[in-house]
Amino acid sequence: MKAIAVYPGQKSSVHLADLPMPSLGEIPNGRSVLVRLLRCGVDGTDKEINAAEYGAAPEGFDFLTIGHENFGRVEAVGPNVTEFAPGDYVVATVRRRGSSIYDQIGTYDMTTDEVYFERGVSRRHGYLTEYYVDDPEYIVKVPDGLRDIAVIAEPLSVAEKGIIQAFEIQRRLKVWQPRKAAVIGSGTIGLLAALILRLRGIEVTAFARTPRPYLNSELMEAIGARYVSTRETSLRDAAGMYGPFDLIYEATGFAPIVFEAMEALGKNGVLVLASVTGGDQMVEVPAAKINLEFVLGNKVMVGTVNGNREYFEAAVRDLAMAESQYPNWISRLLTHPVHGLDNFQQLIETLTSGKNVIKAFCEITPLDSAVTAQENNGVAHAGA
Ligand code: BGC
Ligand code: ZN
Repeated sequence: MKAIAVYPGQKSSVHLADLPMPSLGEIPNGRSVLVRLLRCGVDGTDKEINAAEYGAAPEGFDFLTIGHENFGRVEAVGPNVTEFAPGDYVVATVRRRGSSIYDQIGTYDMTTDEVYFERGVSRRHGYLTEYYVDDPEYIVKVPDGLRDIAVIAEPLSVAEKGIIQAFEIQRRLKVWQPRKAAVIGSGTIGLLAALILRLRGIEVTAFARTPRPYLNSELMEAIGARYVSTRETSLRDAAGMYGPFDLIYEATGFAPIVFEAMEALGKNGVLVLASVTGGDQMVEVPAAKINLEFVLGNKVMVGTVNGNREYFEAAVRDLAMAESQYPNWISRLLTHPVHGLDNFQQLIETLTSGKNVIKAFCEITPLDSAVTAQENNGVAHAGA
């Protein structure tokens, strides 16, 4: 079957590779779920992998199938799978279990292992291909009514994790009731973080460089968030006008802004850092002031990466919430569909140099295609 792959460590090596069709024998104890990929989104991580700044091939391969923002449909299940049946729409998590104690309890997103396994990113093939087989542990069902927008579930799970973790941390305060939040960065993750916060009734001020109006600022405003261009108003000034911020979610990809965010955070506030920043940028910061205000204000800062199934389940629930509260808002994020794995060059070009791109994704298989694979070879779910 076809797969969009790179040679990790080799710049701009994206190409079409050939992978064997996965089989229902891959997971022990009859627990395989065979999924046909319908859509797969791409993001900055794929860009970095193709730029040879990140990513690793699975053992025994010189290439890595990229793509982690998956959405698919179950085609067949092993005899001991009760959770899914052919025809179910599903999303799969990205990281796989390592060996730390956090991995052992299913929170592989919190692994302390140096080497980690992520489908489409690190040492495991990804989802820009035709089929995958995995364990039900890593697969989350999507209601049929959400199939048009569910390709956003993976980035939404990443935003969910940061916010759920922030709430978990703030239980230290016994009575924390966040009223005002700031979201720094108005790309996909910033938009989705703002959405989650708005769905919880929190006032959101969103920041990005570009002056309004443009699509991203309009999308922020469509969910009732205030949009501020940092070219016009600094984070610090905005904090004075619209704060104090109880929660700040940083998702710009620009590391120096973190220290400004530390200054803009209100007393007892929580700052969530979600940008995976490559490079070795240096900045000078008012260290004593930032430290003093953190100490005197009992502030907390937390980093967040990836998401386990808990956060994918939260993402699926919030997709349904978003559709009923802000109908069609998620669809407006899905700006750049690219048809078929064969058009991988167009997919990568759209990702790296497309104009007004929020989410570029590959339409691997039409949503309306028939469930075909392996239904009559005796391994499909009996009740299907
Ligand atoms: C993915 C996460 C992953 C992170 C680091 C992000 O783009 O969405 O699942 O953990 O990159 O590899
Ligand atoms: Zn990602």
